[in-house]
Amino acid sequence: MANSKYEYVKLFEVEDKLMPSTWIVVRIDGRHFQQFSEEHEFEKPNDERALKLMNACAKATIEEFPDIVFSYGFSDEYSFVFKKTTEFYNRRSSKIVSVTVSFFTSVYVMKWKEFFLDKDLKSAPSFDARTICYPSTKIVRDYLARRQDVCHINNQYNTCLWMLIGSGMTESEAQAELVGKQKQDKNEILFQRFHINYAELPAIFRKGSCVFKVRETDSGISVKRGRTEVVIDHCDIIRDKFWKNHVNILKD
Ligand code: ATP
Ligand code: ATP
Ligand code: MG
Ligand code: MG
Ligand code: MG
Ligand code: MG
Repeated sequence: MANSKYEYVKLFEVEDKLMPSTWIVVRIDGRHFQQFSEEHEFEKPNDERALKLMNACAKATIEEFPDIVFSYGFSDEYSFVFKKTTEFYNRRSSKIVSVTVSFFTSVYVMKWKEFFLDKDLKSAPSFDARTICYPSTKIVRDYLARRQDVCHINNQYNTCLWMLIGSGMTESEAQAELVGKQKQDKNEILFQRFHINYAELPAIFRKGSCVFKVRETDSGISVKRGRTEVVIDHCDIIRDKFWKNHVNILKD
């Protein structure tokens, strides 16, 4: 009913259109997943089934929203990069963030049983989400490098922590042992006490996961036209090599 006496309520809606010509990142993060992971007896420090479920959700999300060009995740978080020129929902932040996170969450519930065959989902998982605009390719690459660096720092710490706990320490004793320890010290602890070479741990734990589209010919070489395939990989996205091999992903 146009021009009714109720029409004015619309004026209270705030404009939340994101800056044009910027990469839009949607980062989602599991809410209270420390608790959720304990409730569902995730293996510590890394439950591979849970990581693969997150990756499957990211793959489904990339397939659902064609303007997502790249995504990266670890633990209970995932970042989705929308192309600079996207006009998805007229670039309205609340629309983009809410459809992305609600789609991801419902896939998480739908696919739970595929990954946790013997475990029922005991509570409703939820994820928070934000949008961030990055004005240049350099900065979006630095954003992704930062997330992979956080993955590394957390994983190295958690691997040490859980090895110490496994060797008989209480959680607070293990935490105290690691206070003030540098990256190199933690690698030494793993190697000297537990004979673990950190670099040989599975890449999915150390590097996190990248999910992205490649166009392939039958020969397997990336080309502009051709069949699109969604790839899940655990590559280094800090150094140049990956981006040199996939120049189309973050092309202006
Ligand atoms: P918040 O609601 O503020 O995000 P949170 O409890 O989710 O709180 P995070 O900082 O996001 O805290 O950390 C995620 C937690 O989930 C960590 O404690 C981590 O141990 C656990 N977790 C997530 N994924 C896994 C996994 N694959 N294997 C084991 N633990 C996991
Ligand atoms: P958008 O993505 O833009 O919101 P939409 O298809 O969801 O598009 P809406 O304007 O939100 O469009 O309308 C919701 C649609 O869902 C209507 O077409 C309506 O017929 C259908 N729908 C929702 N709930 C019911 C219901 N309980 N029974 C029958 N149809 C329903
Ligand atoms: Mg959070
Ligand atoms: Mg969380
Ligand atoms: Mg988190
Ligand atoms: Mg609708």
